[in-house]
Amino acid sequence: MNPHRVFNFNPGPATIPTEVMEQARDQFLDYQGCGMGIMECSHRGREFNQVRESAEENLRQLMGISDDYAVLFLQGGASLQFSMVPMNLASGQQPLLYADTGSWAAKAVKEAKLFAPVQVVYSGKAQNYARIEDCESWEMGADDPGYLYVCSNNTIFGTQFHRFPEYPEIPLVADMSSDIASRLVDVNRFGLIFAGAQKNLGPAGVTIVIIRKDLAARSRDKVPTMLKYSTHIEKESCFNTPPTFSIYMVGLVLEWIKKRGGIAGVEADNDHKAALLYRAIDEGDFYRGTVDPACRSKMNATFRLPDESLEAEFIRQATAAGLVGLKGHRSVGGIRASIYNAMPAAGVETLIEFMREFAKANG
Ligand SMILES: *Cc1c(COP(=O)(O)O)cnc(C)c1O
Repeated sequence: MNPHRVFNFNPGPATIPTEVMEQARDQFLDYQGCGMGIMECSHRGREFNQVRESAEENLRQLMGISDDYAVLFLQGGASLQFSMVPMNLASGQQPLLYADTGSWAAKAVKEAKLFAPVQVVYSGKAQNYARIEDCESWEMGADDPGYLYVCSNNTIFGTQFHRFPEYPEIPLVADMSSDIASRLVDVNRFGLIFAGAQKNLGPAGVTIVIIRKDLAARSRDKVPTMLKYSTHIEKESCFNTPPTFSIYMVGLVLEWIKKRGGIAGVEADNDHKAALLYRAIDEGDFYRGTVDPACRSKMNATFRLPDESLEAEFIRQATAAGLVGLKGHRSVGGIRASIYNAMPAAGVETLIEFMREFAKANG
């Protein structure tokens, strides 16, 4: 453990494996003997080309992405995908189906409405997004829908889909920004997956898009060139200058996941970390989880203390103890511990020790 590094529970940008940060540091001025840092290299040169190709190859291998899908490294964040998805995939009057399971999904609904009629098939808003109702109860009656959209992990509220909707005839679109590569998913069940890198895969600045090629071919002519998936598929994410350094960092993180036993390996660790943390939340009356236990996220654990002044004190003392980034989202309050792939088990164990001490002293 590097003595200068804290345990960083920030929701995003989030902690990156220390080994990856060290590797980037060692290569910072001189990437593999070329006399330049990778961020100084041409995006069309040999060095960066190799970086991009191997990042794509590793992501394909790790997630089991077939040749029916394109893998893109785009800019604009996950938020631009809220518009790009309907802009490219909506065809006029076909209704678009959305599950509103939190703030990010609600933002996606707002953008989609600019392009097509939207049907919200399920909304958790009335229950303050504290649970995700089984998809069997969703209102799926629409005629010939364009796609069904879900947000697989609700970063702010702390819920997660543990089972995805099964409507094989409707393309499934998923915002996996806060749980991509944290668990095994069957990519073949999705039409499109997107994720900002800054939670589970590296630094901000690059958005991963995994799209079934036949869906990309659907885009209408009126879509601006830069916002068309087919542009970036054709030019292998180099239509314009891509965020080269961020892609390089994602590549290093993917290599790190491979060394940890692939996604199955990190998933086992994530299950373990989440189980430890939720057990600590549930073990007394002092801490109270904010969501339905059946829908709990393995990435973002949200909980409250008996009152807000104790929460402020908890955050203050935790920060002083080297446990940072635990403040809940401003729209929810309370505590949120983001425990993505790169959070070591030791970080969760240290947090739990701190929680027990704090409950003893203040309970
Ligand atoms: C963080 C986050 C976003 C927003 O990502 P940006 O890259 O900042 O646009 C969208 N969806 C989810 C689920 C997120 O966690």
